[in-house]
Amino acid sequence: MCGIIGAYSPSPATLAEDVYLGLYALQHRGQEAAGIAWTDDDGSIVCRKGPGLVHTALDQAEMSRIVCRSAVGHVRYATAGGSAACNIQPLTANTLARGSFAVVHNGNLPDAQTQRIALEGRGALFQSSSDTELILHLISHQPGRPFLDALSQALRHLKGAYSLVFLHDDKLIAARDPWGFRPLVLGRRGDVTYVASESCAFDLLGARMIRDIEPGEIIVIDQSGCQSFRIPHSSKRQFHCAFEYVYFARPDSIIDGVSVYNARKNMGRALARSCTRCLGGCKQLERPLVTGLPDSGTIAALGFSEESGIPYESAIVRNRYSGRTFIEPTQRVRELGVLKKLNPMKQMIQGRDLIVVDDSIVRGTTSIKVAQLLRDHCGAKGVHMCVSSPPVAYPCFYGIDTPSRKDLIAARLEGEALRKHLGVDSLFYLSKAELVEAVGLPESRLCTACFDGNYMEEEDNEQSDL
Ligand code: SF4
Repeated sequence: MCGIIGAYSPSPATLAEDVYLGLYALQHRGQEAAGIAWTDDDGSIVCRKGPGLVHTALDQAEMSRIVCRSAVGHVRYATAGGSAACNIQPLTANTLARGSFAVVHNGNLPDAQTQRIALEGRGALFQSSSDTELILHLISHQPGRPFLDALSQALRHLKGAYSLVFLHDDKLIAARDPWGFRPLVLGRRGDVTYVASESCAFDLLGARMIRDIEPGEIIVIDQSGCQSFRIPHSSKRQFHCAFEYVYFARPDSIIDGVSVYNARKNMGRALARSCTRCLGGCKQLERPLVTGLPDSGTIAALGFSEESGIPYESAIVRNRYSGRTFIEPTQRVRELGVLKKLNPMKQMIQGRDLIVVDDSIVRGTTSIKVAQLLRDHCGAKGVHMCVSSPPVAYPCFYGIDTPSRKDLIAARLEGEALRKHLGVDSLFYLSKAELVEAVGLPESRLCTACFDGNYMEEEDNEQSDL
């Protein structure tokens, strides 16, 4: 998962600093590396990038001095290609035929290896292991076509998740895959136009959101304004990632017309209805208390409390300076991260039944540690784990780094066996139907593959004519 942003101004402006601030707002989408590219006075593309968070990878003072008309930025969380320096974005290319361009990408292309082997067979030399470079090669393998034409032909051959922003020829070009896996939104402040992964980036920039970029849409932004084109690829249905609403996106973002905050609160409400039904109205619970696993379980916990009438307290405090455990790379660091990150307040918990709302259970490591902490260290009478998504039982191939199926706890255990394994007194999940209803989009527009294994079908039978 990554975050991307682009900015275009018809007159020179401090756009690199805008992009820097936008990346800062999108930091939750990737913490491994960050980069910014902009178009210089002479039309060449300049790029700065490095490992780490935005403020360590980039020099804010330098960015604030840059005056340009177009810029793009990227925060990286490695899915395809690993953490090597050569995979840090933006990726840039200099060609005699089409000039220079830079690209930032959010998403994942499951068939990238197959396409890469085919391109290498035709003489292509790759410099990185990232699937984003494949897109550059596909463009370069459209000889004689103008850039926009070459781009739309290249995208026609891609199957999977891609939200892209290009810098080319003093233009900003944005594209979203025909299935709409990853979000991409259009915003404006005065005469500056922005494209970003999430609308929360616009809030920091004082920009207003115009609209979502549609699945299958290419937008070209230049001196003459914004023009919209279509990727020549039809798709039977859309696949907006349901997990963006559950966990990944910031709650203050609006994605495909849906407030992430409202969706999470609806998930908590739905969970409360089924959970309190099963617990017999919770009458047998000892001074029950609802709490959320911070931060992504908190809003669903508020919804749960409102719906059930059971009081809510922030009984588990998160160390704001630790990373998100779900995206830390090794098992050892992940386990340490849970203890470093979460501190339950004993005086609030002792002797009570605690309803703990979490957004999802992936490996189960966090849930086991939390249940132990609450019972053994804080003296909770009971720990009732309520999960505001269905069991994650299948891996994601579209840009979220869920582990392989053998490491997903819900793929190996279910029901009573899973409850015992986690060490909780009761365990409740949201059903897929409840999740879809909570988001409020038709099921035919959502990807729920990590919950039900229904991956995108092979929908494009057009033959490659590279
Ligand atoms: S498989 Fe899951 S995480 Fe991946 S795109 Fe689909 S809903 Fe999102």
